[in-house]
Amino acid sequence: MSKIAIVGFGGAGYCAAREIRQHDRISSIDVYSDTNVGPYNPMLTTYYVKGAIPYEALFPFGNLDEIEKELDLNFHADCPVTGLIPEKKELCFADGSKRSFDQILFSTGASAIMPPIPGIDLPGVIKMRTVQDAVHLKKILAEGTVKTALVIGASWVGIKVIEDLVENGVTSTLVDGAKWMFYVAAFEETALRVQKDLEAKGVKVSCGQMLSQIQQEADGRLTAVMQNGCRFTADLVAVCIGMRMNVGFLKDSGLKIGRGIQVDCHMCSNYEGIYAAGDCAEAVDIQAGMHRNIAIWYNARTQGQVAGANMAGALMEFDANVLVNLAHYLDYDFISIGDVAVCRPEDRVYEYEDDRYYIRAVRSDTEIKCINMIGSAESNGLFKSTFIKSIKNPNVGVDVKTACCMRNRGFPDEFIDFLGGITID
Ligand SMILES: Cc1cc2nc3c(=O)[nH]c(=O)nc-3n(C[C@H](O)[C@H](O)[C@H](O)COP(=O)(O)OP(=O)(O)OC[C@H]3O[C@@H](n4cnc5c(N)ncnc54)[C@H](O)[C@@H]3O)c2cc1C
Repeated sequence: MSKIAIVGFGGAGYCAAREIRQHDRISSIDVYSDTNVGPYNPMLTTYYVKGAIPYEALFPFGNLDEIEKELDLNFHADCPVTGLIPEKKELCFADGSKRSFDQILFSTGASAIMPPIPGIDLPGVIKMRTVQDAVHLKKILAEGTVKTALVIGASWVGIKVIEDLVENGVTSTLVDGAKWMFYVAAFEETALRVQKDLEAKGVKVSCGQMLSQIQQEADGRLTAVMQNGCRFTADLVAVCIGMRMNVGFLKDSGLKIGRGIQVDCHMCSNYEGIYAAGDCAEAVDIQAGMHRNIAIWYNARTQGQVAGANMAGALMEFDANVLVNLAHYLDYDFISIGDVAVCRPEDRVYEYEDDRYYIRAVRSDTEIKCINMIGSAESNGLFKSTFIKSIKNPNVGVDVKTACCMRNRGFPDEFIDFLGGITID
């Protein structure tokens, strides 16, 4: 019997605990959380705000009491871990106490970045990450006093907050410091289409706007002042400019940390028996061949499962760490697979548009580098797995079954060929 600790209990922590119990019913599992709520899915927060799901649906694994019983866990609520002595596998707590374990998983996730600028704490300035953030925004919108809103950050979270606002009849403006929307995932050509379609739905978009401070007007409204002097006034300001991995408390511990805790394909850190998974981890990006934090729900669950299996002595690997994201909002969707930043002028470009799809893909002679798609959310998995296969084995094209599937969904033969596949006549 060994003593196992899980620090942070979101999707990654829960999936680790569940996997450990698949192999081992005997070891003790202590779960430390800085909250008193059960594991939830932050991705569903905006669905709750707009009323698409009830509060309970934020917790896809069920009720905390039942989870504790089913997985036989010792859950320590409101008990944040404040440090680690890796050589002794000892966790440190705020009251100065320490506890040692045989194996530890860090699955502490990430927090929304709120820049330290004047006005960031004003009432009416919100963020979106936690269940509390969602409950707060839902309450504000239900009061009916918000008529105009400004969302800062035109990326995966900001776009979902825009959806909540638009669906509540709030006149909304979206600004971003970068040159175009979804700057790290979209080609400029894709981003301009996304922007045009959003504007057609009544949302104003302004890029190249870097937030400097937020001021309160005499009538209570908020003005976001930009570094270039532009001013945007609204009843509500949502700050969605990115997230910081919750690893600050491990900074001087000796764990290898980039943006997150660096791990191998078993989710093990540079210390044997100490693992990390989910948003707080950096696994090896198989496209770039280097550590990269790819903070998505699939990674949180799968990495948690892989860490849990290895902690229980069942060898498992995570080798699907690629940049991929899907934004579905206002009956519209945008998918990006692969790294837009590695595309070069000498690469081959494929572009296609019909009344269903917009596609822009880039490849070198040997590999697909990045695919942007609009209108094809249901095919995300198909293209993600094609991309992963092409990275793992550049010389193998799209298999016949996948090619048929793409063709049945209306994707052009030239696109399938471009991906390295075969055209079936
Ligand atoms: C608005 C929004 C939209 C999203 N949309 C998508 C999407 O469309 N697709 C997608 O794939 N992903 C999406 N994501 C990302 C996805 O939700 C996350 O990648 C995933 O939930 C991360 O899970 P996790 O378990 O790693 O972290 P978390 O769910 O953040 O859990 C970590 C837990 O650790 C706790 N903790 C932190 N520090 C400590 C400490 N020191 N001690 C103890 N406990 C601690 C935290 O309070 C938290 O409960 C979205 C996220 C947001 C916020």
